[in-house]
Amino acid sequence: KSFQGMKFPEPIIEALKKKGIIKPSPIQIQGIPTVLSGRDMIGIAFTGSGKTLVFSLPIVMFSLEQEKKLPFVKKEGPYGLIICPSRELAKQTYEGVKMFGECMEAAGFPSLRPVLCIGGMPLKEQMEIINKGTHVMVATPGRLMDMLDKKMVTLDVCRYLCMDEADRMIDMGFEEDVRTIFSYFKGQRQTLLFSATMPKKIQNFARSALVKPVTVNV
Ligand code: AMP
Repeated sequence: KSFQGMKFPEPIIEALKKKGIIKPSPIQIQGIPTVLSGRDMIGIAFTGSGKTLVFSLPIVMFSLEQEKKLPFVKKEGPYGLIICPSRELAKQTYEGVKMFGECMEAAGFPSLRPVLCIGGMPLKEQMEIINKGTHVMVATPGRLMDMLDKKMVTLDVCRYLCMDEADRMIDMGFEEDVRTIFSYFKGQRQTLLFSATMPKKIQNFARSALVKPVTVNV
């Protein structure tokens, strides 16, 4: 099992290598092909398992494919949304997505436009990026709810949704917000849910938000 075998382009594989990531971890071996197959997925995984790459690499690839298909159309975006329970986690995930975009761009691929939407940072800068069109949004529920409420952003064309650390998100009281965010999606979407634990609450949540999910537990 290798990253090459998962059909990632060479610039991504090189970037992974530079970070010391040579061989896929168990969650990556099972999870990446599942995500690439288009199925909804529940990933039961802790921080340190390598879960972030399971959802962020496919989202980068998906976004660049969309960019190739619709290069001159006014971008509504985002095509992919990653929701995180904390600003810190959102920031780290965003930095990773941005880095993969940059290494693809350096290799001649279209430039990826990710945006970080979290509280405690100027809304104006985030809106400037969104208004130019964005591929991937990494957000915390509070700031995103605010933007959706005020119709500053839509999820009309968003086809890919990932909820990271779902158990923490629910524990922190974000369930209602997350359900509201989900309700802004139009049309079909692929939904991924990652959680370190799977209490009844999360199982029920997953049952209502995902369609025939594949569960990956490593
Ligand atoms: P995560 O569980 O996604 O938060 O990743 C935890 C850490 O493991 C991050 O610093 C990653 O860069 C690193 N990592 C992810 N996948 C691998 C891998 N296949 N081999 C070695 N390190 C990895």
